[in-house]
Amino acid sequence: MDPIRIAIVGIGKIARDQHVPAIRGNGAFSLVATVSPLDAGLEGVPHLASLDALLAEGPAADAIALCTPPQVRYELASRALARGIHLFLEKPPGATLAEVAALEAQADKVGASLFAAWHSRFAAGVAPARAWLAERRIEKVSIIWREDVRVWHPGQAWIWEPGGLGVFDPGINALSIATHILPRPFFLRQATLVLPKNRAAPIAADIAFRDAGGADIHMDLDWRQNGPQSWDILVETDAGTLKLSQGGAVLQLPSGTEQGEDIEYAGLYGHFATLIRGGRSDVDTAPLRLVADAFLRGRREITDAFHD
Ligand code: NAP
Repeated sequence: MDPIRIAIVGIGKIARDQHVPAIRGNGAFSLVATVSPLDAGLEGVPHLASLDALLAEGPAADAIALCTPPQVRYELASRALARGIHLFLEKPPGATLAEVAALEAQADKVGASLFAAWHSRFAAGVAPARAWLAERRIEKVSIIWREDVRVWHPGQAWIWEPGGLGVFDPGINALSIATHILPRPFFLRQATLVLPKNRAAPIAADIAFRDAGGADIHMDLDWRQNGPQSWDILVETDAGTLKLSQGGAVLQLPSGTEQGEDIEYAGLYGHFATLIRGGRSDVDTAPLRLVADAFLRGRREITDAFHD
């Protein structure tokens, strides 16, 4: 079977760190081009300044991995789908829920595969956590995602703009795990979003959810963390406490600790190839819905200005 010819649109941090090695490590794909307005691209790979230039001049692509900031994603995705090109959308899949629904309908109509990727769901501890929790009664959940924005997002202006999500850019990863491992749906009850006075997106948030069985789920997001960083989810159950740490990589169960291999992006590309070969899409907007609900229902507090 011929490899799927794939182009990366938006050759920034995540594309270079994760997409390029994952594509090169998967024989189902062949990287044919990269696209970015300012970047020079990769040694030995054709590079174009825009998606329109790629679509007009080639090289031909069967699939595109869209790794731009979310604010520009819909227009690019829609133009690619109009050509029947399969699409891998980095998280979050769009800047609004309605545009993701429109892309899903468009992909369906043209028979292209659309994959709204949630990389944290492929972290090593997540599948075993989901299996273990499926048989437990959930009593209480605590999600603590505290990191230093200056370390992880230096100079990323788009992340502070409307649609950039601010601290929910990493926080949505926690929600992608929680919506996948917890056996019941959960809903937002109240939220406080803390915005620097010079920015349009939150630097911290405190959110109370409750699941359909009545268990409280608390989420603490903060980008002002110095020292040790936390990407932890604790789930108290009738059979003891489960802890997922390091963004889902390490799983602690009452019976002991499991640390699996990091397969996040290899797992995503394996799944994308399966979707394309099987003529299917995978678009789960549950994490983005909860973030949208926080912006819809949350109280705003203004704090000190933030400068990179
Ligand atoms: P980034 O470093 O700012 O890279 C964004 C890239 O998109 C840049 O190369 C930029 O090109 C390009 N771009 C912007 N507008 C474009 C357009 N209209 N057409 C083509 N390319 C365009 O951002 P990032 O950190 O890689 O994040 C990108 C996405 O991946 C975000 O949704 C983020 O949430 C997600 N993500 C990031 C991480 C992470 O650790 N950073 C992890 C997982 C997922 P120029 O520089 O040439 O302008």
